[in-house]
Amino acid sequence: MNLFTFAIALVMAIVIWRTTIYFLRMLAAPPEEIDPEDVHETMAHYRCQVCGAEVTMTMANDAQMGALRHCREEMVLVWRPEGLENPPD
Ligand SMILES: [Zn+2]
Repeated sequence: MNLFTFAIALVMAIVIWRTTIYFLRMLAAPPEEIDPEDVHETMAHYRCQVCGAEVTMTMANDAQMGALRHCREEMVLVWRPEGLENPPD
């Protein structure tokens, strides 16, 4: 092994090491704190269009509310009491 090959191996090792550490730190980042004022009572039933599983949501967080997912697909809202605020998009 000559010096040039050793230098290339060393640079590649450093790049691989730093990239791995970057992705591990990204995965290990803790989730954001939840503001209790964003959480409110709700009542909604969602159904998975793939497997038929149903979920009843009784508490919701407006700040972090995305579409519910099951079987890697978005669940469909099938029932919500009338007059309830904050319907999903
Ligand atoms: Zn499902």
